[in-house]
Amino acid sequence: MSILIKGGRVVDPKNNIDKILDVLVKDGRIAKVAADIDEKADRVIDAGGKVVAPGLIDLHVHFREPGYEYKEDIETGSRAAARGGVTTVVCMPNTDPPIDNPALVKYVLDRGREVGLTNVLTVGCVTKGQQSKELSEMGELKNAGAIGVSDDGRPVINPSLMRRALEYASMFDLPVMSHSEDLDLVDGGSMNEGYMSTYLGLRGIPKCAESVAVTRDVLIAEEVGGRLHVCHVSTRNSIDAIRRAKKRGANITCETAPHYFSLTDKAVDGFNTNAKMNPPLRDEDDVNAVIEGLIDGTIDAIATDHAPHDKDEKDIEFEYALNGIVGLETSLALGYTNLVMSGKLTLSQLIEKMSANPADIIKIDKGTLGEGKAADIVIFDTEHEYEVDPEKFASKNHNCPYGGMKLRGRVDTTILGGNIVYEREA
Ligand SMILES: [Zn+2]
Repeated sequence: MSILIKGGRVVDPKNNIDKILDVLVKDGRIAKVAADIDEKADRVIDAGGKVVAPGLIDLHVHFREPGYEYKEDIETGSRAAARGGVTTVVCMPNTDPPIDNPALVKYVLDRGREVGLTNVLTVGCVTKGQQSKELSEMGELKNAGAIGVSDDGRPVINPSLMRRALEYASMFDLPVMSHSEDLDLVDGGSMNEGYMSTYLGLRGIPKCAESVAVTRDVLIAEEVGGRLHVCHVSTRNSIDAIRRAKKRGANITCETAPHYFSLTDKAVDGFNTNAKMNPPLRDEDDVNAVIEGLIDGTIDAIATDHAPHDKDEKDIEFEYALNGIVGLETSLALGYTNLVMSGKLTLSQLIEKMSANPADIIKIDKGTLGEGKAADIVIFDTEHEYEVDPEKFASKNHNCPYGGMKLRGRVDTTILGGNIVYEREA
């Protein structure tokens, strides 16, 4: 099967390309990127007025399999990814049972391949059963195909264990993807502590519950080495800590999620449980800090933290509702609308944070449209506004705070390894 994508704006930051070009795909690979390619193909896609970019790489999703298939499974999650232009996902291991052994790593990878709608990768647990007591067998996890370790959903509570995790993971060249949170400081809070929590009468989570833990992990990593990747940063002080360590030369990366630059804790008003996640939505100063961190490169990547929950787990009192929102089908449009249209990032910088940089962080040969590379491609429309309708999501659940929002950057076509895995109808 060959595909010729004609006349799109090709944005490929790794090759410094942002230009109207054609892209020829043959045998699952990028065969040629050039102006006016005059070759026959099985399928010709007119991408005039559209953007053609390397498929997105999302370092942080919860596909919930095994154990929580009522929230999402690898098939529905993969379909949501394809609809979002996401051609590689990294699953978090807080499943039931947690992904802390080679058999479970293999299960997730095999199931992902079987479904075949996105490259499904996974991390394994840092600690056995995510119990923060004993390190997992990281070498075995890596041999089974895990691309990193994380206890996401929970922090590695003991700092000495975090130190040993970084040292042990570095023997296998695995990143430790840290959910950095101080549970003592969270102290039963359910939203960001500030004006809104007082106004709503909800117990707040102070920002330092995140920034203290991030600072701890950053300082440990700086001293003992290894590859620390900080997940979902959301506060000014967390970002400052990472910025300072990077300036000193520390080998640290981090990600934020679209909600941390798109929303503030005002979205919680009315006890909106679709605006409840962990870390919680912060205030305007933090949103500005996240955007500054994206602009100056302190924040390397945008990952969704796609976290579906059943209606029954969200349609309850705010304090009891579970944390998390679905994100795969809106991440590109939120990035385009809130970062590129507002002039904060160039389109190339956005693609860098959603594709090229994530590929580098987990050391996979993707995130580019270079000739000979796997043909993972997203084609999207930046000209027309559309309204987000969570009911139309492919995800099993629709816990999403963006319903009714008007965005630009809707995905038209997603190509995975040379096969079209999603095409928008009308
Ligand atoms: Zn997390």
